[in-house]
Amino acid sequence: MARRKIIAGNWKMNMTPSQAVELCNTLKDLVVTDEADVVYCVPAIDIIPVVEAVKGTNVEVGAENMYFEDKGAYTGEICASMLVDAGVKYVIIGHSERRDYFRECDCLLNKKVKKALEAGLTPILCCGESLEQREMGVTMDWIRLQIKSDLVGVTADQVKGMVIAYEPIWAIGTGKTATTQQAQEVCKGIRDCIAEIYDTDTAEAVRIQYGGSVNAGNAAELFAQPDIDGGLVGGASLKADFGKIVNYK
Ligand code: PEP
Repeated sequence: MARRKIIAGNWKMNMTPSQAVELCNTLKDLVVTDEADVVYCVPAIDIIPVVEAVKGTNVEVGAENMYFEDKGAYTGEICASMLVDAGVKYVIIGHSERRDYFRECDCLLNKKVKKALEAGLTPILCCGESLEQREMGVTMDWIRLQIKSDLVGVTADQVKGMVIAYEPIWAIGTGKTATTQQAQEVCKGIRDCIAEIYDTDTAEAVRIQYGGSVNAGNAAELFAQPDIDGGLVGGASLKADFGKIVNYK
């Protein structure tokens, strides 16, 4: 069965609540499609107004992060059940900005993935290599280590419903997109890794996105690749261009 595309915006630390609602209204008619799932991953403070603003549309809402504990003395954190109760369906886990600036390690990310799944959220698990790693020729070794570590204790059935985002760090926010061939090669490598850990059925079911300077001009070619099931889009998700990315065909 063909995998359904999923195109998600990662708003990062942009948009006040009122700006967020305005953006939803601007994008409303532009992101209509029957062919792909469309998700806005938004700052925590924007979740409630954005859930309200997209009601009755084809857009689902995602969070950009969460903590793995259920509740308690974790000042500043947000748990999975809070997200679910607010109407969130997806959560980005392990974005390279979280791994880098906030020192999130694979052991922590594994706990977050498991908790998100347990709560009924769909994790968008990010992985990707630095430019140095690519130049050293260890891209796939690095990504396989991330994937294997982040999925410890996650069942095949759970993985089938997940989304994995391949995001080369050197392509994020730089305007430097991976070539179609580079993106396809790694997304296929991730699918092969899933087949090794689990089985072919699981590998064929999991959706793998490409992220890193996706824009209205390169989306069609990237998303046409056999192992690329859509995109995780940063900068371009904050503009009307996101409608063109969603309707890339
Ligand atoms: C991202 O933040 O996940 C991302 C891919 O950003 P950009 O599209 O701006 O490179």
